[in-house]
Amino acid sequence: MVKTSTAVHPSPRSRVQAMKEYHPPLGNRDALRLDFNENTLACSPIVCEVLGQISAGHLTRYPEREPMERIVAEHLGLDAEQVVLTNGVDEAIHVLFETFLESGDELLLPVPTYTMYEVYSSATDARCVAVQAADDLKFPFERLLAAITPNTKIIAIANPNSPSGSVASREQILEIARRATHAVVLVDEAYFHFHGETVVDCIGTIPNLVVARTFSKAYGLAGLRLGLLAGPLELMRWVRRVLSPYSVNSLALACLPAALGDAAYIDRYVGEVLAARSEFEAALDAANVRRWPSRANFVLVEIGERYAEFVRLMNAGGVLVRDRSNDPGCDGRVRITIGTRQQMREAASVLNETLAKLRAGRRSQ
Ligand code: PMP
Repeated sequence: MVKTSTAVHPSPRSRVQAMKEYHPPLGNRDALRLDFNENTLACSPIVCEVLGQISAGHLTRYPEREPMERIVAEHLGLDAEQVVLTNGVDEAIHVLFETFLESGDELLLPVPTYTMYEVYSSATDARCVAVQAADDLKFPFERLLAAITPNTKIIAIANPNSPSGSVASREQILEIARRATHAVVLVDEAYFHFHGETVVDCIGTIPNLVVARTFSKAYGLAGLRLGLLAGPLELMRWVRRVLSPYSVNSLALACLPAALGDAAYIDRYVGEVLAARSEFEAALDAANVRRWPSRANFVLVEIGERYAEFVRLMNAGGVLVRDRSNDPGCDGRVRITIGTRQQMREAASVLNETLAKLRAGRRSQ
């Protein structure tokens, strides 16, 4: 009989012991989902058709990533070896950090930014160096340049950034890559479709530039877990050594050509979100809510000290929004995903009711 001991457990690496567990605040989300910057509607109907035709036999096979990497590479105007498909951009970040970061290295991050950079760097022996944006939350270009040291190994730039929605210009990114040739410059273009600007075309000519893209946002496939890294062959070769060969599942791979192929769907969805964003921003302005300019499918707003109650009341009104007050420099701020115009009109109406309740509460105190 195998005895199980409760007294002695193998201990993990000290780095892992120091890590905090990350639990995304998902829970019961049967409401208007404006909390995770997902597509709030559906993916392309052509993708659904492909999913519906997947056979039992298809599922018996191990997934084959490489043919799909060729298709993505062609779509991006790159060579197949320059593209690595991953289980969402989260895995891309994880694998990139595992590949390049070791003791003595620094990960350079403009903050506030996407939480998982810090989470995955904390599992490595590298040090995370945060460069705080000013109150306008614009990309802190000069300060980031000044923070580059000989130990800088990765610079991670979400472009557009989350939760701020701000962007770094192409010139700024290329200057950073030139000034840190000893580091990998990761440009996370998760929200590319809403911004429309990219540095993918510089891959290969800039030897330290790596771009990440996801199918979780505009494509509406967050549940399938599909992302990618694109970069110079020499860097992608190292990444392939670390990445599990089967981390992208066969359903995601089967859907990929249909998702990439339905450009009309993306144009429609993005067009709808951009129109909704303008309308919603106007509603925020009319309600006197401070907001930061956004180039993505979300907007960061200032609620102030009663942010927790705001989030609770919005949720109670059927609209899920995301408390970002723990992000550096974001005390009292909440991020609201932009969906369709109809959804955002509903969100604006719940927002106005919520603000009225908060103001009435303040008067009665
Ligand atoms: N990068 C950024 C900037 C994000 O905001 C997100 C998702 N919230 C991701 C990456 C993760 O994307 P994926 O679902 O592909 O892991």
